[in-house]
Amino acid sequence: MSLDYVKFTPGFGKFMPKEYRDMVEHGPFGKKTSVSQVGTFKEILEEHPMCAGCAMTLFIRLAIIAFPNPEDTITVGTAGCGRLAISQAAIPFVYGNYGDQNGVASGLSRGLRLRFGDKPKDVVVMAGDGGMADIGFAQTLHSWFRKEKFTTIMLDNEVYGNTGGQESGMTNKGQVLKMAPLGKKFEKMDMLGMAKVAGCAYVATVVPNNPRRVESVIKKAVLIAREVGPTYIQAYTSCNIEYAIPTDKVMEDAKDVENDRYAFSEYLTDEAKQHLAELYGYKEYLPKPAAAVTKG
Ligand code: SF4
Repeated sequence: MSLDYVKFTPGFGKFMPKEYRDMVEHGPFGKKTSVSQVGTFKEILEEHPMCAGCAMTLFIRLAIIAFPNPEDTITVGTAGCGRLAISQAAIPFVYGNYGDQNGVASGLSRGLRLRFGDKPKDVVVMAGDGGMADIGFAQTLHSWFRKEKFTTIMLDNEVYGNTGGQESGMTNKGQVLKMAPLGKKFEKMDMLGMAKVAGCAYVATVVPNNPRRVESVIKKAVLIAREVGPTYIQAYTSCNIEYAIPTDKVMEDAKDVENDRYAFSEYLTDEAKQHLAELYGYKEYLPKPAAAVTKG
């Protein structure tokens, strides 16, 4: 049903731009595509104006491939590097005024549920650490406390990359930056802990150099958010400009940071596990059979 809006009006296909025809004929809408098939289908995000080698763009590309129903997904973002790429994708993007993204997504998600009922319409917020943990902090947290059913993804480059290198709440203590020449004086914010306290049903950390893992966490987060409650993914997406990482070392840096302080972590509530097992066949979350009682 939702695919109708990407189909051609009969007879008009030959007049449509090639890019559009490719998307309808070879794109991922209505099909099951995965990161292991990259190169065999037309991707929703293929071009962006971000810096060469930026890890954030790789993560965004993988995340969009991983959306379970891309044709029924709307992304929401705000000012910052990430939205330069997200807004180029061939799915709807809504711009939340600086820091408003989780408030905008709340209204959007509720409106879509009223309008479309049971049909899945996924809302995914993707924004930087500055927009999410600093400027939009209150809206982020309140959307979680209100149990809004959408996914929030932080593109954590640990700096305001877009405006020249100011420290953010997610910058590590002691880090020297162009606009923080004496080093940051405070600890990195524990957004993961706050997400759990605020009631997120799924919380994960990930780095972009493991595409299958990125795909796995995004799919779970979106599927859980549909029915159970808010989900949060925190992705380390380095800024090679502000952290002076040579472009050919960006993935090496991601691996080092993963080993050092950004290890993969995943938290699910029991309800989220049950939801994944019963509705989507995730066997690892099926209840374990009770151990046989042995007579002494
Ligand atoms: S400034 Fe940093 S985060 Fe922004 S696009 Fe460039 S490398 Fe990526």
